[in-house]
Amino acid sequence: MKLNVSDALHNPGQEYAFHGEQAIAPVDIGGETVTFDTAVLQGAFFTDDDGGVTVDGKLTTVAHAQCANCLEPASTDIEAPFHETFVRGGDPNDDEIFSYEGYQVEFDKLAMSYAVMSLPIRFLCKEDCAGLGETIAVDSDYNSCQKELPGQHPFAALQQLLTKDEEV
Ligand SMILES: [Zn+2]
Repeated sequence: MKLNVSDALHNPGQEYAFHGEQAIAPVDIGGETVTFDTAVLQGAFFTDDDGGVTVDGKLTTVAHAQCANCLEPASTDIEAPFHETFVRGGDPNDDEIFSYEGYQVEFDKLAMSYAVMSLPIRFLCKEDCAGLGETIAVDSDYNSCQKELPGQHPFAALQQLLTKDEEV
């Protein structure tokens, strides 16, 4: 998303509304890939006498990764309020500031930073996901399955093996 600020630069202090979409590239966090839906950014901006562009708004997107417990796909809604000032002609390689050149403010870096900052510590497919190990113990479907098909119980096969051994 690009914001044309040429009008605003002629009217410092005047507020302008903005609304747009910004794609966010996948990020690798601790060996895990997190992907994002296209983010929606909306809010207002104004310029100051030095050409700084202050943006005030909210980013919304959905982040996708693997459930920390069971490795199934998991996603989480992200809503991140932001307030930043873009420095005109600032160093684009300086991670401490947001900057822009000419008359266009780009939101790729801002969207990426705020989306990543708002990620949960752990993704879960559902709030009470028990994970791989515990699912077997608490899953009611499995238990009912066991009653209807006793032969399918994993220990049944083992019991048969043991019985055979005894017979030999
Ligand atoms: Zn899970």
